[in-house]
Amino acid sequence: MAQPAEASLDLPERAKENIENAVKEKKPKKEKAPKPPKQPKEPKESVTKPAKPAAAAPSAPTDPEAMFKEGWLAAVRKERPADEPVVTRFPPEPNGYLHIGHSKAIAINFGFAKFYGGKCNLRYDDTNPEAEEEVYFIAIEDIVRWLGFDPALITYSSDFFDRLYELAEKLITLDGAYVCHCTDEELKDQRGGTDVKNKHERYACKHRDRPIEESLAEFRAMKDGKYKPKAAFLRMKQDITDGNPQMWDLVAYRVLEKPHHRTGGKWRIYPTYDFTHCLCDSFEGITHSLCTTEFILSRVSYEWLNNKVDVPDKPMQREYGRLNVTGTVLSKRKIKRLVDEKIVNGWDDPRLYTLVALRRRGVPPGAILSFVSELGVTTATINIQITRFEQSVRKYLEMTVPRLMLVLDPILVIIDDLPDDHYEELENGFGPKDVDMGSHKLPFTKKVYIERDDFREVDSKDFFRMAPGKPVGLLKVAYPIVATSFEKDESTGLVTEIHARYDKPAAGEKPKKPKAYIHWVAEAPDHGSPIKCEVRVFNPLFKSDNPDSVEPSFMADIREDSLKVYPNALAEVGLKEIRERAPWPEQAGEKKEKCGPESVRFQAMRTGYFCVDKDTDDETGKIVLNRIVSLKVDSGFN
Ligand code: ATP
Ligand code: MG
Repeated sequence: MAQPAEASLDLPERAKENIENAVKEKKPKKEKAPKPPKQPKEPKESVTKPAKPAAAAPSAPTDPEAMFKEGWLAAVRKERPADEPVVTRFPPEPNGYLHIGHSKAIAINFGFAKFYGGKCNLRYDDTNPEAEEEVYFIAIEDIVRWLGFDPALITYSSDFFDRLYELAEKLITLDGAYVCHCTDEELKDQRGGTDVKNKHERYACKHRDRPIEESLAEFRAMKDGKYKPKAAFLRMKQDITDGNPQMWDLVAYRVLEKPHHRTGGKWRIYPTYDFTHCLCDSFEGITHSLCTTEFILSRVSYEWLNNKVDVPDKPMQREYGRLNVTGTVLSKRKIKRLVDEKIVNGWDDPRLYTLVALRRRGVPPGAILSFVSELGVTTATINIQITRFEQSVRKYLEMTVPRLMLVLDPILVIIDDLPDDHYEELENGFGPKDVDMGSHKLPFTKKVYIERDDFREVDSKDFFRMAPGKPVGLLKVAYPIVATSFEKDESTGLVTEIHARYDKPAAGEKPKKPKAYIHWVAEAPDHGSPIKCEVRVFNPLFKSDNPDSVEPSFMADIREDSLKVYPNALAEVGLKEIRERAPWPEQAGEKKEKCGPESVRFQAMRTGYFCVDKDTDDETGKIVLNRIVSLKVDSGFN
């Protein structure tokens, strides 16, 4: 959907098309600001306030339907007859990949229709041939389906070009539009001028009163290629005395010389958002046209045009608050720069907040929907830090994905007093406490790998993991081990091997309880252990919470160390079964045949949540894992 003229400082591409309609300047002093249209009343107990950050302890995920049952959306539903079937649309402009903010629009439009037993169309708002590309059409549909929604219809604004043209002629005939030849500057001047200090009364364009027949002839001439871009426009004849800039004779059609990806060279004139959206809504029988609050002033022009040409079923526009995520950039132009300058590896780089990136990073679709639902829907814009989003994802994964052990940066531990051929199979449950996800056999042998961070060459009182002479538990293993000596590589200074003994109690003695348990994987090649992996850990791409405000640009806010790769990580054998049994979470309804590798999701005990990356290649045996989120909010940078 195109942005209205006053939308944001970061002018989306499509808004530039409507430059003639741009009314960024402040309104003249004396004039009353236009009253925003009435919003449905929100019941007191509505989910208006964003919920507090979720506590670390597991809690029930938010009811994903709560946002439709109560609050703003429930009130919007009540504005139309209860027996009228709900029809909505999600209207992206196919000029880029969708981002996390769009997931709110998808959840609202598709979810609202689904909840009330209605239908939602996916409508490509493709009225600007200058910005659209085939790849975006495919990616958008793919992401909508990935989020779990099936469009009732897939439509294109361009499918309606003939009907829109007919209505434009009708509008002219009704004395509701005229062809204008003014420049951008002249348009601005008619609307009161751009100089804030020197505002003057608005005045009508000299073309406004030309005869209907003349406008009709000129409009046809525009269509037939008589005019170059900007040499002629069709403008709606609204009410320039109205306080609402959306009534100041908006542009309905403009000349563009670019062929359209669907209609080819058929058209030389293209309708604007303001002309197209309300009419397409009525063509599709949309009942609730839900959009973001930047469009609030457009509600008047939306209704004006539908009434003027008298479309049969009048849709209703209502506006909800945008979802912005801070600590990252969402603008297409900025992400494109990150991609072009190879700061990230493509639009689906897991450090980005495009939906393709979140999918690749392993964030389940259900977690995104439950995040949106947790925030609730109101007219207020919501600014959320990425850490808050991650907390919501963590909460979602906690009870729904299996657990296993993964060592990111391994050191070999040789348990000297176990026989060379020692082989034990421990039973390892996949599920968290109280959740049955089955179990698997975990080999335990004389040689195990532990995390480099879990060993210290010199012990200290505040350190509870492995150090010379100190017993430490290996998760699931009966008795602790105690480090007896270690070897180091002189050139790197890194520990290469630790020797340990098995701290089995003598007969009659009580087993000792270690202060801490660490994760590990065993060397048992005959039993497929360990499984070698490359692990990618993603940290924030930007240093500040608001990269958009950094001078001279957001590029100065980029962190050097946002991607950390562990090339020699080792996973325990359970990974094989977890891959076979994917998708995880099991109950989330993702269809196996439609799932990518990212649906293999698990918790690596003590380490974080991970998924399989698309760079995995089973032919060559290369497995790549992505960290979805760390285990705790404060587990910090690594
Ligand atoms: P952007 O310029 O950030 O891509 P947009 O509004 O131009 O945003 P569209 O593809 O035109 O993006 O938007 C499709 C739909 O998604 C519109 O209804 C729009 O209002 C909605 N939408 C876009 N961004 C957000 C957001 N951050 N929060 C909620 N809804 C959004
Ligand atoms: Mg846009």
